Amino acid sequence: MKLLSKVKLFRPSVMAVCLVMALPVIAGAWLVEEWKSQVVWTEPPKVEPGINGAPPSDAIVLFDGSNLDQWSGGEAWKVADGVATAQKKGIGTRQKFGSCQLHLEFAAPDEIEGEGQGRGNSGVFFGNGYEVQVLDSWENPTYFDGQCGALYKQSPPIVNPCRKPGQWQSYDIIYDAPKFGAYGELVRPAYFTVLLNGVVIQNHVELKGRTLYNKPPTYEPHPEKTAIYLQFHKDAVRYRNIWVRENVSAQQPQLPQEYRWKVGDFGDEN
Ligand code: MG
Repeated sequence: MKLLSKVKLFRPSVMAVCLVMALPVIAGAWLVEEWKSQVVWTEPPKVEPGINGAPPSDAIVLFDGSNLDQWSGGEAWKVADGVATAQKKGIGTRQKFGSCQLHLEFAAPDEIEGEGQGRGNSGVFFGNGYEVQVLDSWENPTYFDGQCGALYKQSPPIVNPCRKPGQWQSYDIIYDAPKFGAYGELVRPAYFTVLLNGVVIQNHVELKGRTLYNKPPTYEPHPEKTAIYLQFHKDAVRYRNIWVRENVSAQQPQLPQEYRWKVGDFGDEN
């Protein structure tokens, strides 16, 4: 019986019915056209990624453990065993940067001294005073928009993935520089995205201006490119493996000429 039923399946009439039923599917697949945006893109440049936080091939290395020659004021800090330790005053990069991706690793002092803002305090500054807070926030309560990973006095971190004091921690900070017009007016605010120990703690957060201790945030016009600054706040915070990448802005689409004409025609009609 089973053999008979198999044979029946191959009867011409049965096959014809199946074919008719499958026709819409076959025709649909045949008629589907791939959508293409018509936008002309340039090929993204190849970058060799680093391993375990090592700089990618297009990064500018700011501290590889040997010296702080690329930092103004770097002679004030102690450099030993591949580590730079904050002391005496803050230091700033000699090269200036606009929008960028910064990687660095830091560690609060092994021995806990002080509390709140007085424990493992340092900071990473962009623009003309936009601080991503560095603090020992392991079981060290303070105001939330001043703890480690905060955009100081503006945005607390989403979560607190801080490690114990003495342990190395990593920052990956994407800074979108603000834009100012010809008369110094703010055209576009700054934005920050920050990962602390690989965890997102700031996600495209709009900055309201300078992150001051004693004043509300306001913008003051400044050049697009500024030094990146590491704060000395009386605590011997250690740093290592600091690098920055400048190619962080999305490619602007280039429309083909014929499409631009169409857009122009459309515009003229209105
Ligand atoms: Mg600070």
